[in-house]
Amino acid sequence: MNTQQTPALQTKLPAVGTTIFTVMSTLAAEKNAVNLGQGFPDFNCDPQLVDAVTEAMKQGLNQYPPMTGVPVLREAIAKKIAALHGRQYNAATEITVTAGATQAIITAILAVVHAGDEVIVLEPCYDSYVPNIELAGGAPVRVPLTPGTFRPDFDRIAAAITPKTRAIIINSPHNPSGTVWTAEDMLRLQEVLAPTNVLLISDEVYEHMVFDGQQHQSAARFPGLAARAFIVSSFGKTYHVTGWKVGYVAAPASLTAEFRKVHQFNVFTVNTPVQHGLAAYMADPQPYLQLPAFYQRKRDLFRAGLERTKFKLLPGEGTYFQCVNIAEVSDLGETEFCKWLTSEIGVAAIPLSAFYGNGFDQRVVRFCFAKKDETLMAALDRLAKL
Ligand code: PMP
Ligand code: GLN
Repeated sequence: MNTQQTPALQTKLPAVGTTIFTVMSTLAAEKNAVNLGQGFPDFNCDPQLVDAVTEAMKQGLNQYPPMTGVPVLREAIAKKIAALHGRQYNAATEITVTAGATQAIITAILAVVHAGDEVIVLEPCYDSYVPNIELAGGAPVRVPLTPGTFRPDFDRIAAAITPKTRAIIINSPHNPSGTVWTAEDMLRLQEVLAPTNVLLISDEVYEHMVFDGQQHQSAARFPGLAARAFIVSSFGKTYHVTGWKVGYVAAPASLTAEFRKVHQFNVFTVNTPVQHGLAAYMADPQPYLQLPAFYQRKRDLFRAGLERTKFKLLPGEGTYFQCVNIAEVSDLGETEFCKWLTSEIGVAAIPLSAFYGNGFDQRVVRFCFAKKDETLMAALDRLAKL
């Protein structure tokens, strides 16, 4: 026996490789392409937010914070949810600060999913959900959103519920499609879940990017949903700081207690000065109240440019993503098309197939418009060649 040989492993995630976001960002950098693939802003956050974090560091707020998050931030979050959605969460027992939404979601799943439990995901869905369920020993049950419109199909959702269903994960505003659930959608979900013990993980990271006067329908607004929900959000999206990785979970006390049991052993705590800085910055609601208008203008600019190409635009009700159908532009499949577009035209995009377990290819790709106007114009210039 060779004692210096690394023992062979059986992978826990056989289907997982490097995420498409990393693949496309790497290719975009290599080809010097305009990167409209991975979702992140290419502009800076408000300098006042940086000042607030710097101030916290200078004041010496640099040691471990409480496991659940600093009280001022939890209180600011509870106050915001109450003001926007009319539900009062207890900051001490029902709000937990997390290392971004990604950690919030895996922690919620690890806290509630037992081996053999089923968890419903609505495809296309964000790429961390299914591996998270598998790591918990659960079985993902994939229910498609309606092809073409990406609206939820409640008959299919209801039909997927079995005695083994532990939870369902929803995401509105929706990455990648940009659709937004209406109050009627949330009421239908509430009705479908009412006779069950199914928990809800509501991924609301794009809560402040909803356009054309529509309103974000948080699960917090629906008592029958809130009572069973982990509501997840992320400061990264709202304040243009995706690299800071701070988010939160709001959930009833009994769910929060289980959540915190896992949280304390997978991160324990989250960056102290950033939490204090965010709490101070949240005192002014204007930055998040103005976000819909800020992104709606960019969406309109980007859509107007795309209208002049052969891409067929899908609706863009929310998020900072715009999907287009490529059928008139190319015969390539989505992934090949994105690689070609990055290498030959100099604009990176993400194939929708990356959000499906079976690689379903509907000739649709996603662009991110959280970019400076000049970046969007440079991309549109290149896309005009198509
Ligand atoms: N959920 C969705 C739908 C997302 O788009 C993202 C951002 N990539 C996340 C969760 C993760 O957010 P965070 O960066 O705060 O972990
Ligand atoms: N949420 C972003 C997206 O959908 C980035 C995700 C990531 O890099 N993991 O593009």
